[in-house]
Amino acid sequence: MRVLLVEDDEPVAQSLRRGLLRYGFTVEWVPTGREALTAAAELDGAEPYDVVLLDLGLPDVEGLDVCRALRERSAVPIIVISARSDEADRVVGLELGADDYVTKPFGMREVIARIRAVLRRAQPANAGRAPSGPDRYGPRLTIDRRAGRVHLDGSPVALTPKEYDLLGFLTEEPGALMSREQIMEAVWDAHWFGPTKTLDVHVAALRRKLAGAVAIEAVRGVGFRLEILDAGALPA
Ligand code: CA
Repeated sequence: MRVLLVEDDEPVAQSLRRGLLRYGFTVEWVPTGREALTAAAELDGAEPYDVVLLDLGLPDVEGLDVCRALRERSAVPIIVISARSDEADRVVGLELGADDYVTKPFGMREVIARIRAVLRRAQPANAGRAPSGPDRYGPRLTIDRRAGRVHLDGSPVALTPKEYDLLGFLTEEPGALMSREQIMEAVWDAHWFGPTKTLDVHVAALRRKLAGAVAIEAVRGVGFRLEILDAGALPA
């Protein structure tokens, strides 16, 4: 999946880019509206973009004009990035053909969720297919990402929103070591530099609620690794 990222604020762009790469997206970053319109010439090319992330506050061209120009050329899904104060811009952006928006400041998981949602809507070829069911992790745990529900041995597990986000992130790639910074950035905020004690509290809650189904191993000085426990852990 190729993302065209139009964002003039370099720290924001780099953070988004890192996050998107981690989720398996390819990212082309341009910092100006002019370059966005040049890149848009590729929209119908051999390697078209799958989604455009468009900051409305650009230094050279009005973001809304970029949005309109992109939409005139292509049906590519457009997600507008706006500042909290620019409600009118968001509305106009949607009227000009943007598919969704995120408001600064945002977390990486929110951006990924919005991208996945617009990609789902943009793929009518899949519309006739049965919706994908819950993802199964070992013999006991299922996560239904569409419904936002977690089941253990067939019974719903009550998770707080952050516990759910944390579990969703750690199960994206079971067995992978994720650093505290990666987790904080993905689950709490795109720009997290503070203490990460709250992460330990949420890990402890997940361990308690999902005991026997997953193991969340702490790797000292680095982060955490989630392992799916196999059938051997099933109660008799
Ligand atoms: Ca900007």
